Amino acid sequence: MRSTDVVIIGSGFGGLAAAKRLAKSKIETVLISATDEHLFQPLLYQVATGVLESEEIAPNIADVLAFKESVSVIRGHVTDVDAERKVITYRTDAGVERIGYGSLIAAAGVAQGYFGHDEWADRTFSLKTLDDAVTLRAHLLDCFSAPVEESDAHTYVVVGGGATGVEIAGQIRELSTRHFTDVPAKVYLVEGAGDLLPVYGGRLSAFTRRTLEKAGIEVLTDTVVTAIDDGRVTVRSGDADRVLQARTVVWSAGVQATPLAAVLAEATDCDTDRAGRLKINDDLTVGDRADVFAIGDMTSLKGYPGQSPVAMQQGRFVADVIRGKRAAGSEFTYLDKGSMAVVNRHNAVVDAPFGIKLTGFVGWLAWLGVHLYYLVGFRNRAAAVASWFKAFAGRARPGFAQVSREQAPAEAAEQSAA
Ligand SMILES: Cc1cc2nc3c(=O)[nH]c(=O)nc-3n(C[C@H](O)[C@H](O)[C@H](O)COP(=O)(O)OP(=O)(O)OC[C@H]3O[C@@H](n4cnc5c(N)ncnc54)[C@H](O)[C@@H]3O)c2cc1C
Repeated sequence: MRSTDVVIIGSGFGGLAAAKRLAKSKIETVLISATDEHLFQPLLYQVATGVLESEEIAPNIADVLAFKESVSVIRGHVTDVDAERKVITYRTDAGVERIGYGSLIAAAGVAQGYFGHDEWADRTFSLKTLDDAVTLRAHLLDCFSAPVEESDAHTYVVVGGGATGVEIAGQIRELSTRHFTDVPAKVYLVEGAGDLLPVYGGRLSAFTRRTLEKAGIEVLTDTVVTAIDDGRVTVRSGDADRVLQARTVVWSAGVQATPLAAVLAEATDCDTDRAGRLKINDDLTVGDRADVFAIGDMTSLKGYPGQSPVAMQQGRFVADVIRGKRAAGSEFTYLDKGSMAVVNRHNAVVDAPFGIKLTGFVGWLAWLGVHLYYLVGFRNRAAAVASWFKAFAGRARPGFAQVSREQAPAEAAEQSAA
């Protein structure tokens, strides 16, 4: 059986940050990930609404780490962890494999949560993976191509008024005002709390609501979804029920741990929170093990948000402990550099440290700068800038052109068969 100094599970923000930092000390590392790509999840909504092409937010993780000689990448799905023997079991296309480790860093993210209604997963679209975004994009293209009389095709319900819900609702509405201009789109944004972007609150939440309503979106706050069935979404506000007839329901209202969190919890005797996330120790170790770390979205620590900066800072912190640059057992503290969300074209809200709050175009420029900085790879940055220019200065949607290109071979085959 092969063994290595460090195994990292996951090629997301946490896994990539840890791998890069470990490579500085040339520590032999194997990164195992269920997907080939490093996915920039914050821009999934732009792939779904045709602003960006898929590749622009999902470079191949092996390419990203190609120059880090001490790091190798395996595409595999980790199914078991034996913490006593320090062995990981994972599944690849070739079969089941095992690998031994000196230290383990788990950064496996989270899945979508449905508040106990798992059956809603098949009746809604989610935005967690690249496949989710590509599937939703093809569906949106179908809906916008449907005859105007088919009103349910042009009605969209977005559930969850956090950043993802706000961003996708804003972009769907913008599709009908700037791209498919002959098709009306009715967009509802449903949020259980009293405000959109509840974690921002105050002026930023009020600006978001005002801007979306001005754009024609119906915002339903203090409203919960009680049923989703065959194109009918029932929402309840106070004692009143209302049925929305929509072919598209986008779910962005909750998370739950992936099965790997339960595997690790059992292997290390670690508690989990209500969403199944690992309640890790202050030094990011898991349960009773000093050689097993968990980071990012799959963990629960001091109420830190499920956001990419937390995962990246934790990834670097753990790598520094492993490469001896930081004392084992030292406490992790998150340095909050703020949060931001795009409301619609040229409008964003930014909640920065020292009470700095930006809205509108200034906020959007800040958003643009930060996302360009964090997008991985020069080619992706250049391509994204070109796509943003086409979509936001012009009215094009390069991502929809990609769907047409992908459909073209199948259509051509059908035509030649006919
Ligand atoms: C739509 C959306 C919008 C977002 N917007 C923002 C934003 O604006 N700002 C912000 O800061 N954050 C945002 N986030 C959150 C941010 O993306 C996450 O906090 C971040 O991705 C967490 O990083 P991670 O490394 O913990 O997990 P992830 O990035 O989710 O990576 C998890 C990795 O684990 C792999 N994996 C899972 N299970 C296994 C297994 N069993 N075996 C092998 N590999 C496995 C996956 O393939 C993936 O590579 C957004 C998230 C979403 C979904």
